[in-house]
Amino acid sequence: MKKRYRYKIEGIVQGVGFRPFVYQTALSNALFGYVLNDSNGVEVEVEGRLKDLKNFDATLHSHLPPLSRVDFIDKVELEPCGYIDFEIRKSGEKESKSTLISPDMSICDDCYRELKDTSNFRHNYFFINCTNCGPRYSIIKTVPYDRVNTSMSKFVMCKKCESEYKNPLDRRYHAQPISCADCGPELFLRSIKGDLIAKNFSAIEKLALLIQKGNIVAMKGMGGFHLICDASNDDVVSKLRERKNRPTKPFAVMFESIDDIKKNCHLSLSEEKMITSIQRPIVLVKKRLKQNLSSKIAPYIDRLGVFLAYTPLHVLLLEKLKNPIIATSANLSGEPIITDANELKSSLHGVVEYYLDYNREIVNASDDSVLQMIGERTLMMRSSRGFTPTSFRYESGQKKHILAVGAHQKNSIALYLNNQIILSPYIGDLDSIKSCEFFERTLEVFKRLYDFSPEVIVCDKHPNYFTTNWAKKQGVELFQVQHHYAHILSCMFEHNIDREVLGVAWDGTGYGDDSTIWGGEFFVCDRKSYKRVAYFEPFSLLGGDRSIKDIKRVALSMIFDLEKDDNGDSFEEFKKLFEPSEISLLKQMYQKNINSPKCSSVGRIFDAVAVFSGVCQSVTYDGESGLIIESLYDENIKDCYEIYLDGEVIRYKHIFKEMAKDKNPTLIATKFINSLVDIFFKITQKYDLDIVISGGVFQNRTLLERLLKKSKNIYFPHKIPINDGGIAIGQLYAYM
Ligand code: ZN
Ligand code: FE
Repeated sequence: MKKRYRYKIEGIVQGVGFRPFVYQTALSNALFGYVLNDSNGVEVEVEGRLKDLKNFDATLHSHLPPLSRVDFIDKVELEPCGYIDFEIRKSGEKESKSTLISPDMSICDDCYRELKDTSNFRHNYFFINCTNCGPRYSIIKTVPYDRVNTSMSKFVMCKKCESEYKNPLDRRYHAQPISCADCGPELFLRSIKGDLIAKNFSAIEKLALLIQKGNIVAMKGMGGFHLICDASNDDVVSKLRERKNRPTKPFAVMFESIDDIKKNCHLSLSEEKMITSIQRPIVLVKKRLKQNLSSKIAPYIDRLGVFLAYTPLHVLLLEKLKNPIIATSANLSGEPIITDANELKSSLHGVVEYYLDYNREIVNASDDSVLQMIGERTLMMRSSRGFTPTSFRYESGQKKHILAVGAHQKNSIALYLNNQIILSPYIGDLDSIKSCEFFERTLEVFKRLYDFSPEVIVCDKHPNYFTTNWAKKQGVELFQVQHHYAHILSCMFEHNIDREVLGVAWDGTGYGDDSTIWGGEFFVCDRKSYKRVAYFEPFSLLGGDRSIKDIKRVALSMIFDLEKDDNGDSFEEFKKLFEPSEISLLKQMYQKNINSPKCSSVGRIFDAVAVFSGVCQSVTYDGESGLIIESLYDENIKDCYEIYLDGEVIRYKHIFKEMAKDKNPTLIATKFINSLVDIFFKITQKYDLDIVISGGVFQNRTLLERLLKKSKNIYFPHKIPINDGGIAIGQLYAYM
């Protein structure tokens, strides 16, 4: 008795080895029929004995190719029609643009083995890849994802590669970037002036020598260039800091093996798993006290961003080196990652001495992803290579194409079409012309890949965000969402929460409904509305954005507030941080309310605490004060400052007087974090609601872990960035 079934499968099922997987599964179960890519994903028909069909079905649900993801399977039974073989059919109609595109992935275990196998014909081949690994998003120009539509199109396959490419039983069947040393892209090592020094494998060997000698070099990676130098060499790290004008912001370190990472850092099991995953993100982990890395890599903090070599090129380079390397995105501060050698030469002349380039174009830039592990769960801080573009199936009656343009900092965009919400890779801070261009370019990519044309645009309420102003100019329906409400919604979306919750958004800065700056908010909210039920007492941001870097101004503003109540004697010492003339100028600004917006941001309160504890007077990167305070935290200290709720206002300014007396930075930092935990629960306990948290402040792992320890009822985002990188998803969810 034969039966026939037709499957319609949706999800990430194209360009990830899905058809050969189906083909092999059908053959091994003696089933006949066909598989083809269609406009929504993959269509399969199988005919055969019931027992074999059951096996086939089970495999389809359990043994998927590593890069695929099935969102939806529709299965119908049909009359048997007497198939006599199983074939991979050419897709009939024009392949639609709604199939999902996979992000770039790191080298897989099979390719790694072949890379190192002297008998393999791709031994030491720096672009080895297969259907289960390698570039995707970075090489695609348009859909369908076929070689002609990628930056591999100009490389003609040799006979050997072609036979693998065409063989459905081969791991490289339809692996679009397939190549070998005979037919693939080539490497070029050049001086920054452009002189060719070496090619291909010998370019890697020479590059390694240059790094060992203490040079700063650039290397074209998967989604852009990295700046690279020896991570154990203090002098070269200092030189890099000087040349990049990057005094303290931590650099990520790339290692050859997980054992090397363990020698330098404490790793939990879940951290190890994440570091070695196919995504290979940068994972923030705890440094060991004793390690053989330069102390200048992540000064003043106890964390280190580590990752493993993730392309064959990186693997080969690190194999030649004795030490791990700093590998940081090559760009000018605040600009997007550089993908092109000409731009590298003009922008980073004077920073790098040599660069390794190759002749395959990076069509779409992407950065390294950054995350932390909170127990078993991820806390996403920058979602890019390996993770985005990503999609979430979202069944709704909504027929319109909707675009959410996200926030201003750590921007990423999100689209909705055909029951999918798609999140773009990290775009960056939109403070420079190049970043804004990158924003528009990324949007063009998504329009092209998905045949997307927005009928609604959702944006922030901030009148000065680039994205808000851009959105207003597009002439389509506009919908604005408050920044912190969007933060909470992004987390609600990820956890599929559609009920009333208590949302806690602790953040850097965002535009509030009363035209002040928010960032320390408690909302009772659902998907349709929100009510601000508690917030940190506002203070003045003297000079607006200037006090975001010059954080001692935040502290001074708190002192001015306190002085209103008494004489403020205890702060004479702090005032010495300023010139007397500067103090009187700032006092005038404060009194006359000139360029001093009111602000309730917890991120900025962290800044003030960093100043009062005496560890830091100005910051050079976002989140610096939080990381420093966190590294001072002492678990043995149980005391806290008394922060209390007064109506809707959280009163805390008096604690700075106590800090002035406490003096000891560890004591101050610890008591402060404890007091945040304390007030969090004092307020949340008043409500019989699940707690949803989001916002950049919760990247503070010490704080987050303490909250999670005390309550099981807290939802935080895992896949969607908890910082402004997740805003676009929240914006979409608000409109849906
Ligand atoms: Zn592979
Ligand atoms: Fe935010």
